[in-house]
Amino acid sequence: MGYNRVEMRTEKARKIRETLNATRRRRKNQVPKVYQLKLQNLSKEDEEKLCKLFLEAKWLYNYVVADVENRLNSNTWKLKEVEIKTPKGLERREIRQLSSQMRQGIVERIKRNLYSLKRAKEKGIKVGKLSFKSEVRSIPLKQYGITYKVLKDKNRIKIQGIKKEFRVLGLHQIPKDSELAEAQLVKKPSGYYLHVVCYLPKEKVIEEIKKNQTKEPVGIDLGIKYQLTLSNGEKFSWYIPETRRLKKLQKELSRKQKGSKNYQKVKEQIKKEWEYIHNKRKDTQNKVISYLKKFSLIAIQKDSVKSWKEGLFGKQVQNTGIGGITARLKTLATLIPVIFVDRYEPTSKSCSFCGYKQKIPLSERTFRCKNCGREIDRDVNSARNILQIALKALADRVKSALPVDCGEVTPVEWSIVPR
Ligand SMILES: [Zn+2]
Repeated sequence: MGYNRVEMRTEKARKIRETLNATRRRRKNQVPKVYQLKLQNLSKEDEEKLCKLFLEAKWLYNYVVADVENRLNSNTWKLKEVEIKTPKGLERREIRQLSSQMRQGIVERIKRNLYSLKRAKEKGIKVGKLSFKSEVRSIPLKQYGITYKVLKDKNRIKIQGIKKEFRVLGLHQIPKDSELAEAQLVKKPSGYYLHVVCYLPKEKVIEEIKKNQTKEPVGIDLGIKYQLTLSNGEKFSWYIPETRRLKKLQKELSRKQKGSKNYQKVKEQIKKEWEYIHNKRKDTQNKVISYLKKFSLIAIQKDSVKSWKEGLFGKQVQNTGIGGITARLKTLATLIPVIFVDRYEPTSKSCSFCGYKQKIPLSERTFRCKNCGREIDRDVNSARNILQIALKALADRVKSALPVDCGEVTPVEWSIVPR
């Protein structure tokens, strides 16, 4: 006996649910990692096709955003034609290159953006409507095998709707036993990239980390001039000020006639320069994260980034891109123990040698203890305090026989911060 329509639909829904649950179970033992693959040897025709994808994504995005109430519904992803505003008035545009999965991805992105806007509003932050995009820089490719495929033996990738298989650079980085998941097609001034999310077996990743791990724990203080200061005195900064070249280009741009060919040319160069700065930042962050993996435990102040953003450092914090590193610390926390210390702990006011508390103005970079007379860099002092608070909290938890939720660590093994 065959299924009738309703039974088929519920059967389909059940199967989807089952697959989702199975994936969720697998993910518990996996760690995500993003790999960047650069599309190589693009012909003019290839570039045009790819360019069209991003253009259509922008049309769709802006069309929906222009009238969310009426245009965002369960059928939005089926749109094959949209209207866009041009200097000459409204014009119709066909959506041909974007596949239905890609359109779904764009629609989901709009929903996500609306949600975060709503959350911000609830917190009392003044926000307007969702704004139009002058450019869409990435296209979500959700289901591996449908929206894109990796042809490893050929060193190529395939993108849904485009016949050609693109040669890519960087495939060798992806470990054999990783599971490929969603990806993003990314447009940068230097070319087109595929950012692939891979899931690696957690056990193996941890094993790899443990090979180079020391028994030393570390405390981290987040700052503006140096984004990270460690309790062992090391400091890291990935704030790269705007380059001289960028300033020169910006000056040049101001002299060009807006919209002219030369104007566009300089604008492209500026974008390239930003990409360069951005890459350098990312590079330093990568190095910092891999350096942090050698510690047996990381202590950091909870929500410290958030508290700055709300406060007076807002813009500076955004420029340093410190937000990005906290997300990565969260991933790191699934691999090595990370303890978050309450953000209201007076970590800068206490002497990390004797515990004496005293006031210290923000401008003062050195902590000079009025009790024991020791002098120490302000941020290093904070980092040491953060570590001490974390270790004490952990020891208390062990003493009170409460389960320690950060893995198989025994606090006695750690060398306590020297006093
Ligand atoms: Zn002291």
